[in-house]
Amino acid sequence: MRRVEEAVLTNPAANHAVKHAENSPEGHIRLFAPLTGPVVMLADVPDPVFSGGMFGDGIGVDPLEGKLVAPCDGVVAHLARTGHALTLVTAEGAQVLLHIGIDTVELDGRGFAPMVEQGAQVRAGDVLIEFDQDIVACTAPSLVSVVAIANSDAFEIVERAGACGLKAGETPLLVLRARDGALVEAAREASVVVEEARQQVTLTHAGGLHARPAARVREAVRGLEARVEVRFNGKKAPVESVVGMLGLGAGQGASVEIVGVGAQAAEAVAAVAHELQRDAHGETDEKPARQIEAAAASAATAAARAASAATVAAAAAPVPNTLTGVCAAPGIAVGKLVHWDDAEPVPPEAAQGTLAQESRRLDQAIAAVDAELNTTVRDASQRGAVGAAGIFAVHRVLLEDPTLVDNARDLISLGKSAGFAWREAIRAQIAVLANLDDALLAERAADLRDIGKRVLRALGYANAATRELPAEAVLAAEDFTPSDLSSLDRTRVTALVMARGGATSHAAIIARQLGIPALVAVGDALRRIAEHTEVVVDASNGRLEYAPGARDVERARSERERLAGVRETNRRTSHQAAATADGRAIEVAANIATLDDAKTAVDNGADAIGLLRTELLFIHRAAAPSVDEHRRSYQAIVEALGGRSAIIRTLDVGADKEVDYLTLPPEPNPALGLRGIRLAQVRPDLLEDQLRGLLAVQPAGAVRILLPMVTDAGELVRLRAQIAELARAMGRTAPVEVGVMIEVPSAALLADQLAKHADFLSIGTNDLTQYTLAMDRCQPDLAAQADGLHPAVLRLIDLAVQGAQKHGKWVGVCGALAGDPLAVPLLVGLGVTELSVDPVSVPAIKARVRKLDYRLCRQRAQDALALDSAQAVRAASRDHWPLD
Ligand code: PEP
Ligand code: MG
Repeated sequence: MRRVEEAVLTNPAANHAVKHAENSPEGHIRLFAPLTGPVVMLADVPDPVFSGGMFGDGIGVDPLEGKLVAPCDGVVAHLARTGHALTLVTAEGAQVLLHIGIDTVELDGRGFAPMVEQGAQVRAGDVLIEFDQDIVACTAPSLVSVVAIANSDAFEIVERAGACGLKAGETPLLVLRARDGALVEAAREASVVVEEARQQVTLTHAGGLHARPAARVREAVRGLEARVEVRFNGKKAPVESVVGMLGLGAGQGASVEIVGVGAQAAEAVAAVAHELQRDAHGETDEKPARQIEAAAASAATAAARAASAATVAAAAAPVPNTLTGVCAAPGIAVGKLVHWDDAEPVPPEAAQGTLAQESRRLDQAIAAVDAELNTTVRDASQRGAVGAAGIFAVHRVLLEDPTLVDNARDLISLGKSAGFAWREAIRAQIAVLANLDDALLAERAADLRDIGKRVLRALGYANAATRELPAEAVLAAEDFTPSDLSSLDRTRVTALVMARGGATSHAAIIARQLGIPALVAVGDALRRIAEHTEVVVDASNGRLEYAPGARDVERARSERERLAGVRETNRRTSHQAAATADGRAIEVAANIATLDDAKTAVDNGADAIGLLRTELLFIHRAAAPSVDEHRRSYQAIVEALGGRSAIIRTLDVGADKEVDYLTLPPEPNPALGLRGIRLAQVRPDLLEDQLRGLLAVQPAGAVRILLPMVTDAGELVRLRAQIAELARAMGRTAPVEVGVMIEVPSAALLADQLAKHADFLSIGTNDLTQYTLAMDRCQPDLAAQADGLHPAVLRLIDLAVQGAQKHGKWVGVCGALAGDPLAVPLLVGLGVTELSVDPVSVPAIKARVRKLDYRLCRQRAQDALALDSAQAVRAASRDHWPLD
């Protein structure tokens, strides 16, 4: 290598350019001009990929001669197939990218003649590539070429040539210095292939580049060696930043450019393009969160339905001083109304600790919120709220968004407190979204606000309401976020009331778990009740009475006490088997989705697992689970059950219950499409792998297989044959019990045929109700009417039981109706012998069964089949079997 001193002497102009070259300390790497021509500063290179530093820091040259020479000694670690670029690695590990012209990859090799091969050891000044300037100038957007340090994280440019003319192989161009020894080592080990790839993509999705595609894009490139950014309308965003991508404002029909740089650039760009066009391959439109939550409400509890019915009735004849709502968690409470102050906490602007301390506080708060969200995602998954789980998963992604976190760090480095910095970073991003004037993005602003609030809480900034609660507080809000509830003083809160919300919203689930009565969908009138007004919340009956009389308060208090006693009594006997007073045994099992649920089920006295919804174990995965992953998940659950058996349902996914690894063609009516076992028509591998995993669980008798969405016996016979064949191939000799879900009217009508081939039937009343009444289970406006106690649904249940009895098979119910106290006597009366319910409902349902007389139930259930509406059935049930 020629020494810098010599070069400086041969080219006096460079004296100014590399000022201290001769004095540069040892370990510095000196690069000479690889091309002859004037310097172009990196920021002025006419391609944002380079000028934005995506390839790393560097410098441009506008070449006057068609010859690229080595700027230093090194090894040609990568030579582009098209001959327009190469990467040289120095002995110290610096990766020097030499790129001729702009967009010259498009020339596909035309005009370029590499003079070296990949892997060649070269000396400074050796000719690397010759190129035809005319061809490049006429076909590419520009001849300007770039020298970039691809591993700029390991090497920094400490000196660079100023505006001057360069002579290839002679003029000093750059001086590099290693930033950190460890990084250099890593850099040497790392692959040095620097490819670039670009693709233009038109967004076909109605939502454009919204949170879900953005989050997926980010996931798609995880682990790939490439830096990728999306560009639109003169703006660009790295794919690591969901917030940045949202800020592009690329809506439906927008044509965005994806640019990738790195060894796996082509792969990464293709992956991003695939995600951005995925809608065209089958993604449903992203819906505003309210709608998604409504969809999550598909597994709405029976209690909510009962209360909805009450609400409808109450609405017809308004009671003074009373608001009606939907029961989200049963119970009754008396207290003072406190409007939950939703105002953001105000952290102090100035840092209280050192810069490092503030930075650490922010890191810790973010980590705490991340853990909290992880639990939230899991909870949502457990209750079947796949959509809601998706929302919280997006929150997790936003939480670690580099744009947000970097902005907050910048403010901390300016002396601001962690809380202030975080709040400002969130605000700035909300402002960007607000400017885009888009309803869906407005929802993302709400997401940002929520994670903003969560982190501030984790930093210790609570809002006023949490500190000033009266002794018995009934908290009122538009809706509560899980973070609101996690910071509550539970010793003071007696009930929750929400103007909006759904029976299966997060707040509802948490309230149920905590045993706090909760009422949702009370409406805007809630806001008009004055602060600290005394109220009675009769959640079980869907009522909120404000400014009640002394007698009402008294009654409510004693009712509350009585209910607490009942709960305690129920718990004491929950581990004993349940039978009606006249001796009809009823198994009370639990519906679960995870290993944790299995433990809760056992704690609550569940006799068995009546339904394991397996799709929820695997929703947030990039790929379908392997046979062994299936086996391990089920094995762990079986082991947690202490000898109890588990009915495990095969994947019930499809366009209506989406999982990340499925890309199905769009369907106009997903609920009527390729879901449940029908999915095997297009993805037989998914079912087969799952069956193999199920068949491998030990001991063999611990697991029964349940098939969802079966419509006739032909399907069942085929599937049984497949299961038998797989078992044989695996060398399994023990028999396996196979049951079918009765959730499609045809299956109920043909139950006698199905029962001939099935070991048991399990009625999915959620779907059976939806398909019988033609009422979308996700449509909130129909929530009160889509009632499983509708006589038509009861008649199908009756048919199913009769069909099963012909062949001596048993029938269970695993839909939400099984956990509805008003439905229990009727289901038992129709001949159902297993009720599979929410783990926490097991004690109450067992207690309910014990109070029944089977002969009476039978008679009254037959009478119910003749009633003319679900309301009439409910009223009759309430009369015959009053609620606790
Ligand atoms: C049902 O349809 O009642 C059922 C139990 O299945 P899922 O709610 O998972 O569709
Ligand atoms: Mg179902």
